[in-house]
Amino acid sequence: MVEFWRGHDITRFPSHLVTQIAEGIYSVGPISTSRTQAGGQSISPFLVVGERAAIVEPGDDLQAPKFLEDVRYLDAIDLDHIDYIIPSHIHMHHVAAMNVLQQEITHAKLVVHQRGVQHMIDPTKLNEATVKQSGEGRCAVLEAVPEDRIMAVAGGEVLDLGGRQLEIIEAVGHAPHDICIFDRLTRALWIGDCLSLNHRIKRASAVMNVPGFDVEQTVAFLHRLRALNPDMLLVWDGITAYYQADELLRTAEEEVLAIEQIVLEGMKQKLMDGKIGEKVLEYRLKVGLGPGGRPGAEPEPPKGPPALYRYLQKKHPELEIPQGVR
Ligand SMILES: [Zn+2]
Repeated sequence: MVEFWRGHDITRFPSHLVTQIAEGIYSVGPISTSRTQAGGQSISPFLVVGERAAIVEPGDDLQAPKFLEDVRYLDAIDLDHIDYIIPSHIHMHHVAAMNVLQQEITHAKLVVHQRGVQHMIDPTKLNEATVKQSGEGRCAVLEAVPEDRIMAVAGGEVLDLGGRQLEIIEAVGHAPHDICIFDRLTRALWIGDCLSLNHRIKRASAVMNVPGFDVEQTVAFLHRLRALNPDMLLVWDGITAYYQADELLRTAEEEVLAIEQIVLEGMKQKLMDGKIGEKVLEYRLKVGLGPGGRPGAEPEPPKGPPALYRYLQKKHPELEIPQGVR
């Protein structure tokens, strides 16, 4: 289902999964990537068409054949004219489509953050880590991508598709190999997994539970995104397009700073982890967010954000990590 908050022209092509989100930007999906009967994730890769083209967020390998079928049906571009395949990061359900795409689109370059390049050339460790997390047979296993088919980026690169340009932005948040992708023509911004978006309450949240989380870096990153003046935020997981981009980025910053203050106060008062967790939860509920955690799962007792404790302790060495951190 496509959600949108303003009357943008979103055109769905009947009987196929292609939706035109903006000029020359097509979302294909959502296509299920489930390897289990219990169902699973759905992914919507994007095709961006200028004189040349790019695939953004190619997704998992299971959905790649259907993606290619619909791209052929759409007939907006020849597969030979696709120059770039750009996942927001190298987690398996963002990149494993390469198993199929590198056979079918033989000259396109895989664009990944330079920190991810080695894992594409030799995916042994990435595969092991993914299987360990998801279980044997429950996730894709990436085939090696030849080095000469990879373009390493670090942010600031501009990919010219002829008539439109995609700008790469180094991202902060979900993984060290995250990038965002900005289409200068339509001002669409792909944000990968750096923000979670809640269209019901029109808020975005930055990822705060990652090792090395840093408030200043996160806020500076959100400012960089706002400075692009994006018109819409695009994501890969089937809901696709979120408008009111500036408001979403603003709320993400507001939330990071509010939670930082709550946790800082709690640490100064030497509150226990659970007590700080309660105060953070109070804030989340006040702004309309849920308690977090997996939907349908038994709610866990509130706990504070460990990565934020460590960040604040580094900034204020007199503070102690609260007792009771699990
Ligand atoms: Zn990820």
